[in-house]
Amino acid sequence: MRVYRVESSGFCWGVAEAIDKALEISKRNQGPVYSYGPLVHNRQVMSELESQQIFGVDPSSEGIAGSATGTIVVRAHGVRPEVIAELEEREKQTGARFHDLTCPLVKMVHNVIAGNAKRGIDNVIVGDADHAEVLGLVGYGLPGRTHVVANPEQAAALPPLERVCVVSQTTQDYANFRATADVVRKQAQLYREVNTICRPTKERQEETELMARRVRTMVVVGGRHSANTVRLVELLHGWGCRPLHVETESELRAEDFAGLEEVGLTAGASTPLWMIERVEERLASFGARERLTLSSIARSAGAALVNTNLWVAAGAAGLAAAASTLQQIPLRWEFLAAPALFVMSMHTLNRFVDRSRLDFTDRVATLLYKRHPVPLLAVGAAAGLASVGIAALLGLLPFALALLGLACGCIYGMRVLPEAITYRFGIRRLKDFPASRDLSTAVGWAMMTAVLPFLTLKTLPGTVNLLTFLAVFFLVFLRTMALGVRDVAGDKIVGVETVFKALGPRSTARLATLMILALGGSLATLAFAFHAPGALALSALVPYVALYTLVFFRAGPPRGFLGELVTDGQNLVAGGIVAALQRGIF
Ligand code: SF4
Repeated sequence: MRVYRVESSGFCWGVAEAIDKALEISKRNQGPVYSYGPLVHNRQVMSELESQQIFGVDPSSEGIAGSATGTIVVRAHGVRPEVIAELEEREKQTGARFHDLTCPLVKMVHNVIAGNAKRGIDNVIVGDADHAEVLGLVGYGLPGRTHVVANPEQAAALPPLERVCVVSQTTQDYANFRATADVVRKQAQLYREVNTICRPTKERQEETELMARRVRTMVVVGGRHSANTVRLVELLHGWGCRPLHVETESELRAEDFAGLEEVGLTAGASTPLWMIERVEERLASFGARERLTLSSIARSAGAALVNTNLWVAAGAAGLAAAASTLQQIPLRWEFLAAPALFVMSMHTLNRFVDRSRLDFTDRVATLLYKRHPVPLLAVGAAAGLASVGIAALLGLLPFALALLGLACGCIYGMRVLPEAITYRFGIRRLKDFPASRDLSTAVGWAMMTAVLPFLTLKTLPGTVNLLTFLAVFFLVFLRTMALGVRDVAGDKIVGVETVFKALGPRSTARLATLMILALGGSLATLAFAFHAPGALALSALVPYVALYTLVFFRAGPPRGFLGELVTDGQNLVAGGIVAALQRGIF
């Protein structure tokens, strides 16, 4: 069965931003973080957030009122101005922190309503009276002169109005807003309207409507108590398309799709992309059983290589071969094995250190790690120790380097920093430093692939060694940065440890461009100024990296394990080029 997914599905940026900020706050905090109501209307995401000490509580509950130390966040829906004032007062009285994570697009509606109120104009809000966002919006209007209507019928029942402005709940459907606003227009003497349906909602509804006109059945993924998800279901009914509302892929039943050749897939603004992709995968498995073809075998093999970290480890070996060749250091098996085992160990162990976070960032890998924790932990530890042992065969300095690398890698995600730093800068772990993931990965790889072989020479480093170090550093940094882009695009929860989160899209794109140029520059200098073997051939990596960077940033990163397959593929290409050179192919 073919599955057509609405492109704009996934978290809207208002929700994504609120989750990101709440996670950052929770990371820096000593106590729990409470949000006014669930941060996101999605039970699965909320239960993951609870494991990060972020709890959605009823504003009137003891959770908020009784907590003297817990930090409070106002979710993307926003609240009434009195609530903000109360929380500010509470902060002054008790020192308990408060953060306003209201979506800027909701704040914009607050401003429109408050501006009208100041000028003595009545507000009519087209929306659901008991929805949290609308309850907040009402607080910005004039008491008794701010009306909420859900549809044209309710608008017709409004009292006579003199001067009125109609606005909308941000997740309303446009047709209902239009019809309701038209009724109000006829009743008012002086009329104004501001369509405040937010752009993400508008795009999602338009795309869903287009899709609904093409397929007979559409699956809608999202919380049953998520207003915008429920609205999508209602809209589909209206467009004559059969909607099937599910929260997770486990609710899908094959018989609902019997005889269908194609199905549409959409989701509410509070459904993360990784959850939609899991539904998509299950839907695609319905219908005719997939025949064993070359492409299905390649897909399974690719997923297995990536999820077991064998792919990334093989890439490290390839890069090590390239680094030794550039430095004209005769290749030894230890130069390849030590970095490969080191990288494999780090990738495996770090998943255990930060397992709770992984739970809602990488489901497939998590399942693997949850089902087989002991063997995988043993493999990770054994790979790390073997890497140090192999480095010891090369001498004391390589041994010390590998040991240091392993120690740093293991403590990266742990709370090891002294409290003085924790309190002063809000940083508890090495991981909390902005861009630390991309930076430490690039340094670690460059150390193990370029510096480790050099240490066996017992000479001082020259320009060639420095340029080789830089070329490896740039390559790995670019690969890790692209994976950060992929994680964010897939609604995976990543923090400022990635460059993309720390710098934002524009600056990251600029940095990527500079790094690609620097990579080209270092390889060109090695080739033309120092005649380093393989440097010219390895320059083929520059367009490879430039191409995938462009695709990741512009067209969007590939889904699932393909991201790793492509980015870590660069290192295998490097290894392949070196192997071809050794055999005199070019
Ligand atoms: S649905 Fe729109 S207004 Fe609401 S949080 Fe998302 S982006 Fe902001």
